[in-house]
Amino acid sequence: MNLILMGLPGAGKGTQAERIVDKFSYPHISTGDMFRQAIKDGTPLGKQAKSFIDKGALVPDEVTIGIVNERLSKSDTNEGFLLDGFPRTVEQAEALDQMLADHGKKIDAVLYIHVDPEKLLARLTGRRICSECGATYHLTFNPPAKEGICDKCGGALKQRADDNEATVHERLQVNIRQQQPLLDFYEAKGSLKTINGDQAIDSVFKEVSEILGVLAK
Ligand code: ADP
Ligand code: AMP
Repeated sequence: MNLILMGLPGAGKGTQAERIVDKFSYPHISTGDMFRQAIKDGTPLGKQAKSFIDKGALVPDEVTIGIVNERLSKSDTNEGFLLDGFPRTVEQAEALDQMLADHGKKIDAVLYIHVDPEKLLARLTGRRICSECGATYHLTFNPPAKEGICDKCGGALKQRADDNEATVHERLQVNIRQQQPLLDFYEAKGSLKTINGDQAIDSVFKEVSEILGVLAK
């Protein structure tokens, strides 16, 4: 299945993606992760993306569409993929449709994790990520067994550079503005599945699994 995970920053896309990948083994394609890796590696893409990410702005469409196009042309996506954080604009969504159509493919479902925006500040500022394997934790809502240490690989937990309060505020504003037209775009195509993201992580995953189970039949 070719899937998109949608939701505002902090809605739980990465958290659910880890579980979806464990269960359904689709490649997880997160544009945010790709940009962070490029910044870490000091590549030209990383240098280009950093100034936008630091401000909480979106990276320009042509750059983002370019890296997704390249990633989706790899053969590990032939049996399905899970896009996380892309598309974020209608222009990106239209470009995605075009690049898939060029390969005789289409999106099967858009899983939209809905959480009221006012709940997201606490989720984002308390988020911690494993510096080794990328697993996601939360200081209060999903803490590791041992403070500061990843349960899965023993790596050190870090805060993302853009999860400080000022940047989070800007990211939320930017994404709230972009989100509604995208939801309308996928609703009109009949591919939008809305999931209540304001419940325990396992309960969110139960809803996700039910939808994917139904679609997989
Ligand atoms: P996104 O990828 O959509 O930005 P994340 O999956 O990184 O969001 O989740 C943001 C933060 O909220 C993380 O710290 C995560 O542990 C926490 N979180 C995720 N899902 C839930 C949930 N259902 N309830 C409470 N906290 C959650
Ligand atoms: P995320 O990890 O999804 O929260 O993304 C982190 C940051 O990367 C965002 O705040 C944007 O600056 C950038 N980014 C990620 N995905 C996209 C996208 N599809 N379009 C534009 N910018 C993006």
